Amino acid sequence: MINLTEITEKMNANQKINYDRVLQKVIAEWDKASVRPTILLHSCCAPCSTYTLEYLTQYAEVTIYFANSNIHPQEEYQRRKKVQQKFVADFNERTDNHVQFLAAPYEPSQFVQMVQKKSLAQEPEGGLRCAACFQMRLDIVAEKAQELGFDYFGSALTLSPKKNSQLINEIGIEIQKFYATNYLPSDFKKNNGYKRSIELCREYDVYRQCYCGCLYAASQQGIALKSIKEEAKEFLKGTIKIN
Ligand code: SF4
Ligand code: SF4
Repeated sequence: MINLTEITEKMNANQKINYDRVLQKVIAEWDKASVRPTILLHSCCAPCSTYTLEYLTQYAEVTIYFANSNIHPQEEYQRRKKVQQKFVADFNERTDNHVQFLAAPYEPSQFVQMVQKKSLAQEPEGGLRCAACFQMRLDIVAEKAQELGFDYFGSALTLSPKKNSQLINEIGIEIQKFYATNYLPSDFKKNNGYKRSIELCREYDVYRQCYCGCLYAASQQGIALKSIKEEAKEFLKGTIKIN
């Protein structure tokens, strides 16, 4: 098993780590040992999971874990959850895979309390609030992975060019120290991963949200949450199409 802490400690502190290359090394080890490990993969809506599943299911048994108490309002949370679940089902049907789907309880007050306690409400998107948000969710994923005996826990979010994948990987590597499971390093946007995810969203008719998820970023972006709520409600009633 590749020791990630050893790899990162050997790197120059100012040097960016190519986590895609680290993932290639991890996959080469699986290949050498002829194993198909189990991965509990965090995703916060369907788009980032598209290419990520297409790629990872070649080498491993993947379960998507929808752990996203940051998403507001609740109706939008339910819509993203439903779209994610549908994508997994459609993907399995078209590719003959057996990806599983699990969801954590929706506890938005825990996210809001964490943001308030750390005074992060005014942080811009990409700032300290997002680091705390990644940390909170990845910790939940690692805990669940340990509870269910997964070999690895990881994040589909490194596919998004808007997310700081160096930071996500650093957080994951730190979290793995506290659990009996391994962090799966990644930078899924590499090798045209992001481009492929756009194609797959089109092919599978996947809903792409217009804001990251939390109330704070939505307000900063001027998103009309009332309309989002109504639209999501209609979607959940089945009266409007996903896109
Ligand atoms: S990072 Fe954005 S696009 Fe990717 S899963 Fe999360 S909300 Fe969706
Ligand atoms: S902008 Fe996205 S990543 Fe950042 S705190 Fe809000 S939901 Fe979390």
